Amino acid sequence: MSPGQSYGLQAFDDRMSTVDFDVAERPHITVDNDVCRSCRTTDCVYACPAKLFVPTSDGGILFNYEQCFECGTCYQVCSGENALSWTYPDGGHGVAFRKG
Ligand code: SF4
Ligand code: SF4
Repeated sequence: MSPGQSYGLQAFDDRMSTVDFDVAERPHITVDNDVCRSCRTTDCVYACPAKLFVPTSDGGILFNYEQCFECGTCYQVCSGENALSWTYPDGGHGVAFRKG
């Protein structure tokens, strides 16, 4: 990359086309909606790069672990006590990054 050259913005769909997911049977992240319903910031919704946290009409969170990048951001930003349970996926499963 030469000086002054920059990477252009890449569409979310284009980014997603450079990763594969070998989905494990066991969810490696779980969300406790009893805690989430009292969360005022819902930081996970804004911070997750894969947009896997979706607010529900009853004040909870709908979460799908299947396209998780395993970046750990949600665990870092979550302010709800014990709201998130976070582990890596079971061996051999999860995200695989390819060169775009
Ligand atoms: S930040 Fe934590 S407590 Fe708040 S909605 Fe997200 S997972 Fe739930
Ligand atoms: S680990 Fe990263 S990609 Fe996975 S759910 Fe949390 S913030 Fe989203």
